[in-house]
Amino acid sequence: MSDVTGAELRALMARVPSVEKVMASTEFATLIGEFGRTQVLAALRRALDDWRGHAQAGAASVSALDTAQLHANVDAALRQRNQARLRSVFNLTGTVLHTNLGRALLPDEAVRAVMQALTQPANLEFDLDTGKRGDRDDLIDELICELTGAEAATVVNNNAAAVLLTLSALASKKEVIVSRGELVEIGGAFRIPDIMSRAGAKLREVGTTNRTHLKDYDEAIGPNTALLMKVHASNYAINGFTKEVGVGEIAPLAHVRGLAVAVDLGSGTLVDLTQWGLPRETTVRETIEAGADLVTFSGDKLLGGPQAGLIVGRRDLIAKIKKHPLKRALRVGKLTLAALEPVLQMYRAPERLAERLTTLRLLTRPMADMQAAAERVLPVLQSAIGARYEVSAEPMFSQIGSGALPVDTLPSYGLVVRTADGKRGGRQLLALEKRLRELARPVIGRIADDALRLDLRCLEAADEAQLIQQLTAEAAAHPDDGSKGARA
Ligand SMILES: *Cc1c(COP(=O)(O)O)cnc(C)c1O
Repeated sequence: MSDVTGAELRALMARVPSVEKVMASTEFATLIGEFGRTQVLAALRRALDDWRGHAQAGAASVSALDTAQLHANVDAALRQRNQARLRSVFNLTGTVLHTNLGRALLPDEAVRAVMQALTQPANLEFDLDTGKRGDRDDLIDELICELTGAEAATVVNNNAAAVLLTLSALASKKEVIVSRGELVEIGGAFRIPDIMSRAGAKLREVGTTNRTHLKDYDEAIGPNTALLMKVHASNYAINGFTKEVGVGEIAPLAHVRGLAVAVDLGSGTLVDLTQWGLPRETTVRETIEAGADLVTFSGDKLLGGPQAGLIVGRRDLIAKIKKHPLKRALRVGKLTLAALEPVLQMYRAPERLAERLTTLRLLTRPMADMQAAAERVLPVLQSAIGARYEVSAEPMFSQIGSGALPVDTLPSYGLVVRTADGKRGGRQLLALEKRLRELARPVIGRIADDALRLDLRCLEAADEAQLIQQLTAEAAAHPDDGSKGARA
């Protein structure tokens, strides 16, 4: 049944101003100045079509359209349409290196270097000494070698690219020996066996899932072997009856046979993290010292830099890798190099690293800091989400993330939201999770054990101020929600 009669509808339609008239109005001149004529015209046509659609369907809410109303509709639609799709969020997941939220955050020095590289020409591939063409790797390979003890280094788009390139350059049509316990999938479809076949190398699995011995590698070496490879298990751990052969044992075996050992370290840290009370992770330098001929690792995991894949190791092997055509396809851009250099430089002063390198600062954030932040955010969050929920400040556990130290957690502090009626409230918690995700700067937490958990480890001062401001505005926009006992 229609709420609008045919005659009424025709009358309403007749009063809609013409497209030409609307476009020529003063209201629309500002819009056209901001978004351009083509976009505004298209948006206006969509707005008119929508209105006609509603009117013809007899929608009760349909009312006469005037230029002011059209302006409001088109303005909102254009703003929504032109909002950046890549947006800042609050990472309150407790995972510091969250792959889906962009992993490592760059320190200011790196951000400034990127800005400069974006806006000014630079000697990306230009040798300032000779005035001739240079190699972009030359900008940072010495620094990488200094920090890792390697002879040579190169940088590509990410660690997956580093592994693909290494295997393509050194093991195409040949065999690569890998322990069955290390045939891992890293998420986002990075699987060692798949990368291996993409690189044209033949995977030779040895040992079993839980135990691999040196003799397994020894017996697998044949005339067609190119590499012995070790892969950091990254995102899983096997406990119990296990045996893994270290690089230190494999390297002599490979080297007497004239073979190389490649290690995919995954996160690849440059410093001993235990000095900050963090779990132990083998460093790149230790891996090289243990005899690895090549080591690959990510730039945006524990290293705390931009997305990149670093390959370090023997000079002759790096030279071979750099000559491979895939190197050109997988190379990094100037922004990556600009960001990487200051981050690497920070490692020259390890005693200041925990204060300067964002990732390490977050990983080592004092409990008292996070607890104080929780006390400050608690009342604002409570009034923003209302009396149907109960917020408390509680200790919790963060994760490093991105496959670094998968089983280790870091004691942390944050806010825990439960339903006020004490019921499990699965749906209510999901609704709240969604509501926080829909804020101007989305708040990303996690639901576990019948509660929404907001870990404050990654909420540093500037972000905290912004979150409090956003939640205060939210509370003001929904005053009824805020009063305790709004729902019996
Ligand atoms: C993370 C990881 C990769 C992939 O690194 P990206 O930089 O994400 O490409 C490869 N291997 C291991 C062992 C990893 O942990």
